[in-house]
Amino acid sequence: MPRPILATIHPPALHHNLSRTRAAAPDAKVWAVVKANAYGHGIERVYEGLRGADGFAMLDLAEAERLRALGWRGPLLLLEGVFEPRDLELCSRLGIWHAVHCDEQIDWLAAHKTQVPHRVFLKMNTGMNRLGFTPARYRGAWARLSALPQVDEISHMTHFSDADGPRGIGHQLAVFHATTQDLPGERSISNSAATLRQGSDAQVRCDWVRAGIMLYGSAPDHPQHQASDWALQPAMTLSTRLLATQQLQPGDTVGYGSRFRADAPMLIGVAACGYADGYPRHADTGTPVLVSGVRTRLVGRVSMDMLTVDLTPVVQAGLPVGMGSEVTLWGRASSGAQLSIDEVAQAAGTVGYELMCAVAPRVNVVVA
Ligand code: PLP
Repeated sequence: MPRPILATIHPPALHHNLSRTRAAAPDAKVWAVVKANAYGHGIERVYEGLRGADGFAMLDLAEAERLRALGWRGPLLLLEGVFEPRDLELCSRLGIWHAVHCDEQIDWLAAHKTQVPHRVFLKMNTGMNRLGFTPARYRGAWARLSALPQVDEISHMTHFSDADGPRGIGHQLAVFHATTQDLPGERSISNSAATLRQGSDAQVRCDWVRAGIMLYGSAPDHPQHQASDWALQPAMTLSTRLLATQQLQPGDTVGYGSRFRADAPMLIGVAACGYADGYPRHADTGTPVLVSGVRTRLVGRVSMDMLTVDLTPVVQAGLPVGMGSEVTLWGRASSGAQLSIDEVAQAAGTVGYELMCAVAPRVNVVVA
């Protein structure tokens, strides 16, 4: 018997979240962002649910190759472009579009011998200050690219730094449009937060939105919004079972560091999930969890292979609880009750993105 911890990927939820993306950005094409192995879900596992997208965007050529191997014939985009000149050969062969964010990438294209002209997304740095040409240098880069026979179509992209926060996208949006206004080509600027919040504005959704986290059912602007506010459904459930229960007496402590102390008699459960499974060690007493579909909380520290939960609410609900009882770390319990990954992330001082990507290789995964 394998350890009972299990990640379940839900294709209908992915499909639903893709429809939500389309509804939020009417008439825009959708890049389904599947970098980091589809945010930890597995490219092959999300393909069925997301194949209705207009294209897939990622970082690694290997991920693009995996999509071609699955039979995807549509657009693929490397969000950071190629990492070395020889990658251009594979882009030519597999028809992969790629971002161009620096002079070196233009030099590589200029030296690339190919019969197949490339489609590129020229990237502008409008304030994120990671990748891209500054607005002052952008049009020069565009002129260089447009003179290359190796390039037949140039689109425009930028990335927002504060689409989920109070600073917003106003400044970056204005700079992007002012710099590109008379240039031909498609545009792509919005991530999930911009799509959900302002996708009804044609200037924001542009030709392509790049939706990542919302496809996986997490709110990009948690805690201002919950995933349910945006009608998103969790694409992953992380579940396990109780290995044991312990009856505590007042004064008894739980786990490493004895950080939780019972002040009344209480029943706790020991679940087969720990930080070696990718569950955040910084989750501590109070982090929400479902046991038999009933919402309760962690007590004490998360250890490598186990965590401990307060069973009081389950007992109060009159449900039988013991070894083998279902524990839902995030996602959907078999009763239908849901726990958002965003709530768990918040309790652990992180974001849903990180938790999804951190699910460990030792966790079995099924698609259902
Ligand atoms: N576009 C780019 C360039 C990104 O790096 C990312 C992810 O960080 C996305 C789009 C998707 O962002 P999100 O997952 O917030 O929708």
